[in-house]
Amino acid sequence: MKPVPVIGAGLAGSEAAWQLAEAGILVHLYEMRPLVKTPAHQGEDCAELVCSNSLGSHLPDRAGGVLMAELRALQCHLLPIAEAHAVPAGGALAVDRIPFAKAVTKSLEAHPLITLIREEVLTIPDGLCIVASGPLTSEALSRSIEKLSGKDHLSFFDAIAPVVLGDSLNRDSIFKASRWNKNADEGDYLNIPLNKEAYQTFINNLLQAECHPLKDFEASDPRAKIFFERCLPIEILAARGEDSLRFGPMRPVGLEDPRTGKRPYAVIQLRAENLSGSLYNLVGFQTHLKYGEQERILRSLPGLENVEFERLGSMHRNTFLDSPRLLTSCLEWRERHGLFFAGQITGMEGYLGNIGSGLLAAQSLIQRFKREEPVPLPITTVLGGLARHVATAPSPSFQPMKASFGALPPHISPVSKKERGQAYAKRSADDLARHLHNGCPQ
Ligand SMILES: Cc1cc2nc3c(=O)[nH]c(=O)nc-3n(C[C@H](O)[C@H](O)[C@H](O)COP(=O)(O)OP(=O)(O)OC[C@H]3O[C@@H](n4cnc5c(N)ncnc54)[C@H](O)[C@@H]3O)c2cc1C
Repeated sequence: MKPVPVIGAGLAGSEAAWQLAEAGILVHLYEMRPLVKTPAHQGEDCAELVCSNSLGSHLPDRAGGVLMAELRALQCHLLPIAEAHAVPAGGALAVDRIPFAKAVTKSLEAHPLITLIREEVLTIPDGLCIVASGPLTSEALSRSIEKLSGKDHLSFFDAIAPVVLGDSLNRDSIFKASRWNKNADEGDYLNIPLNKEAYQTFINNLLQAECHPLKDFEASDPRAKIFFERCLPIEILAARGEDSLRFGPMRPVGLEDPRTGKRPYAVIQLRAENLSGSLYNLVGFQTHLKYGEQERILRSLPGLENVEFERLGSMHRNTFLDSPRLLTSCLEWRERHGLFFAGQITGMEGYLGNIGSGLLAAQSLIQRFKREEPVPLPITTVLGGLARHVATAPSPSFQPMKASFGALPPHISPVSKKERGQAYAKRSADDLARHLHNGCPQ
């Protein structure tokens, strides 16, 4: 049997390779790291989480939680590994990123039908194939994809938030709490409260700080100035208005400072990066400020006076296809049967959605392998809704989307937000069960 190439051992490619192998298909999983690096990955393991360590909400009435339930029903392989490496994060599933990636790598390497090949793929191979090379697809492969699509991809920028050492924080100025949970013992986040004066000083500092110059290839790209709306750097948010951060990542709602018994004017939240709590991510603090400026401004905040940085914030190219023109809702290239795309490059956004897209592309490929027509997932499922968005959203203004009830056909019952979420969850579970019962691959 000729092995099926899967290009890129990120979240999508790792899940896809594993799905194919479990279906008895021989897989060559290509990963260019560590020989060729990306601007965001730090290690060489498969399924590395490049920025936040959160896979989103696991609450059953939220879109993220419904997607998790769907992935379980579809026998996803990466989700149980993520759950086995969970760190406390309130209603979210956050993972200890390094052991998670190591566990995925070990399982893939141990699989008898998967060969992990450390090599940069330069061109799209003929025949059955899954391309899951991510938002930082290498230049040579990007050119090959452009040749195939006959048109440019879209590019924009994503930003990474700083990560700090837990024992360098001054806990006297910090309180522990999860939003809306008054019991401090159960708080999963560290919170730095700011009064009005401290907040305004911080905003002024951000507005006056220097940013990195764009790299040559970035500066020459007219689309470089299009920031991804859902991942805006803090300095861009600050420039949009004095209160933007206070209503965004620094919102204090649901948090009470136990020392004053009051809601602070603004809050900086830190989320554990690992179980030992040795590293913390500044939630929503992605930034493109110069490194020295980041250190200076963040150390001027209470609790961070002597903070040590494990990683500073940064901003990178993010590449995705004009998918509605190119892909079907089974993630197959419209003009070439057997060629599938998965992951962020398709415009399916979010770690969990990317894992799901790898699963979906693999299930679709398995059907082609059996000489069957790939069957899309029900559009009432979160994963099916995302796939439909990718295949049918208006092009060329196509923008990536992450798990959201907004991508699904509306549910007709006029109920509360919670009941609405529960109704979407039930409809998804029922329709997916019917889909699987009808013999679609699992
Ligand atoms: C800077 C940055 C920050 C982000 N932050 C977040 C976040 O906080 N939360 C979130 O949900 N999403 C975030 N994303 C989006 C994130 O990339 C995805 O959610 C997820 O990592 C994508 O999974 P993937 O499998 O598509 O790509 P990746 O995980 O990037 O995997 C693609 C793999 O393909 C490899 N590769 C690339 N080209 C080749 C080639 N030619 N040959 C062989 N291998 C190749 C790469 O080395 C990589 O390992 C961020 C993206 C960027 C760029």
